[in-house]
Amino acid sequence: MAKQHIGALLVSDMDNVQWLTGFTGTFGAVILTESLGEFITDSRYTLQAREQVEGLEVFTFGSPMTSAEFLAERLLKMEIGQVSFERSISFDTWENWKSKMAGVQLAPAPDLITPLRMIKTPEEIAKIRNACALADACLVHIERMIQIGVAEYDIGLEIEFFFRRNKAEIAFPPIVASGENSARPHARATERKLQRGDFLTLDFGCKLDGYNSDITRTFVIGEASDRHKAVYERVLEAQKASIDAIRPGANGKDIDRLARDILNKDDLAQYFGHGLGHGLGKTVHDSGRLNATTNVRIEPGQVWTVEPGVYIEGFGGVRIEDDVAVNEQGVEVLTKSPKSLKILG
Ligand code: ZN
Ligand code: ZN
Repeated sequence: MAKQHIGALLVSDMDNVQWLTGFTGTFGAVILTESLGEFITDSRYTLQAREQVEGLEVFTFGSPMTSAEFLAERLLKMEIGQVSFERSISFDTWENWKSKMAGVQLAPAPDLITPLRMIKTPEEIAKIRNACALADACLVHIERMIQIGVAEYDIGLEIEFFFRRNKAEIAFPPIVASGENSARPHARATERKLQRGDFLTLDFGCKLDGYNSDITRTFVIGEASDRHKAVYERVLEAQKASIDAIRPGANGKDIDRLARDILNKDDLAQYFGHGLGHGLGKTVHDSGRLNATTNVRIEPGQVWTVEPGVYIEGFGGVRIEDDVAVNEQGVEVLTKSPKSLKILG
């Protein structure tokens, strides 16, 4: 804030609020100045905020007061005449704040917090490592039920049961995509039953102790054709080479490019429409992207997913995803499930 000449900052993005304070409710905000910090939430979370928020004084409000009115009141009490806000607020919020905070000058802030969020402490990485180990264990459990005739829904449910029974939450609704459905990168599980000759893509993760894992493996059901094998091997080559290329000083854009170049040995990059990876932490899609337009530099402490995929309409798709933590030498691969082509069922 001092470097950017920001006297007062209003943090309202919930991922940033959670990262700063540990608060896990659905509404909260932080007002920061050089010497003061206040945490603001509504009466639903008065008790929770007192337990979770450390180092900031907690202020709550209730009906009929609105959040904008209360923020205005706190800013006034803190004698803040100008406050920088996060650009991720909606146009509605902006208009509402402008009308309710008439005495305060509002200025958009540069992104101060997400660059900090990208660098994890050893304690945070340890938690992500644990979440990854539980995802690996889930895969071992799930592989046992994969056979011809099993419905995608049942596989998805079993993934959820496994995590819940192990005191974790699902990080996101599991993706279970078989046959032609596997050509949809973010397919949701359906009643479709596994058939011989399907690709089956499972993409899931858990949230354990506040931190997420995110893993994808693709299998073939019953019998693999030469085309299955060729597409799978090329995606695997791209994924492994990308992981090897992640080291301090590397550029995210170059790593994404490398994956596409390898896929293009078989003209497959045209079927790879999404980015190579994303940051991982308290949220599944944490700050930072590995894609064609990013300017991110790889640094120790970052945690990335590496997930190239090829999705061919009418045939099916392959995605292989691991989570890696950057260290001084390169990376530690946190998800350890085997990834050579497996034929199940
Ligand atoms: Zn995933
Ligand atoms: Zn992912």
